[in-house]
Amino acid sequence: MKDDPKTFANSTSSVHAGIPATRPHHALALSIDATATYTFANTAELERYMRGEDPDPDREEYGRYGNPTVCELERRVAELERAEDGVAFSSGMAAIATAVLSLVKAGDHVVLFQDGYRRTRQLVTQTLARFGVEHSIVPSGDLGALSVALRDNTRLVIAESPTNPHVFCVDLAELAGIVKARGRIRTLVDSTLATPVNCRPLEFGVDLVVHSATKSLAGHNDVLGGVVVGPQHLVSLLRDARGVLGSVLDPHAAFLIARGLKTLGVRTERQNENALAIARALEAHPRIERVFYPLLESHPSYAAARAQMRGGGFMVSFIVKGGRAAASRVVDAVKIPKIAASMGGVESLIEQPAIMSYSELSAEQLAKIGINPALVRLSVGIEDTADLLQDFAQALDVAG
Ligand SMILES: *Cc1c(COP(=O)(O)O)cnc(C)c1O
Repeated sequence: MKDDPKTFANSTSSVHAGIPATRPHHALALSIDATATYTFANTAELERYMRGEDPDPDREEYGRYGNPTVCELERRVAELERAEDGVAFSSGMAAIATAVLSLVKAGDHVVLFQDGYRRTRQLVTQTLARFGVEHSIVPSGDLGALSVALRDNTRLVIAESPTNPHVFCVDLAELAGIVKARGRIRTLVDSTLATPVNCRPLEFGVDLVVHSATKSLAGHNDVLGGVVVGPQHLVSLLRDARGVLGSVLDPHAAFLIARGLKTLGVRTERQNENALAIARALEAHPRIERVFYPLLESHPSYAAARAQMRGGGFMVSFIVKGGRAAASRVVDAVKIPKIAASMGGVESLIEQPAIMSYSELSAEQLAKIGINPALVRLSVGIEDTADLLQDFAQALDVAG
């Protein structure tokens, strides 16, 4: 019997899923296998390995093709997402770029959603365009527009749920249904903002899930990485491409991500609580024009989020009344969140997309892509809820 798709990774699976029963030297913790290559005792052993007959199925030949520390991380993320297999990369963008390059060729067509990660959009609209891959961009979460955009040569749909900064969610079951009905199209869902604790996209029928492990999976803003999980036949395609493109994750970085992953469950629960409390408090505040959080009834994605997510995640965005300068005053007045790019970690981070992520765009260009100059993006950390609420209350007083 297939499980209810609304099941999620939790603290128990964060700590234990994918961990081997025994380790070398009876160590409890994962070791860092710092090696670039692997040895063979003699040519007979090497020949056996090359024929695929080595008694150790996990044996590796060279560091670009595999590493035991990295492999354990891959297995763990795959288990948390209930995937057959996983493959790790040196960053989230390395993961997305390797996946996309594995799945499309010249003459193919790719569809992506408007509010997607900026560098993913750039990869498709600029890099892939140079190699003869066509694309269409449809409004976030608009599955009617997606259906219309699909062509005979469409081979890949890239979605994110929730998106950044407006935390739009796409109905994953409906998305998978539309795409599957057309055949020959793969869906790649960037689930970085959801984490497997809040949503498991594969359970709704999408093909591949990608994470920037830099964010919640690692969780401490101290390492970059990316992971793609899905069925074995697709993941092995990506693993082969990684061997060609060289987008490998270093074992030291894999160790940090694997350690961070142990607390994914507890961190995400706290972030869900903090973010919902802050979203509600901001929505009730007279100096705030609008709040974006998937589990606020006012959010356009509320129904989709309720249907497929356990919690709303760590990202809250809001528009401050009074425009760009008023928003900057709030950003400057909060004491706990640091001004920084990135998100999902234990520290609350805050930024104004018009100034940081989209600084080179004019007011007209910002309006065109729907970024209000007074929009503030908050990645809520694991600090105490009361302290964060108090900090925002004082900042809105000071900045008014
Ligand atoms: C950060 C991010 C990426 C890119 O990941 P890096 O690890 O920075 O390369 C991709 N998608 C989303 C949604 C992200 O937030």
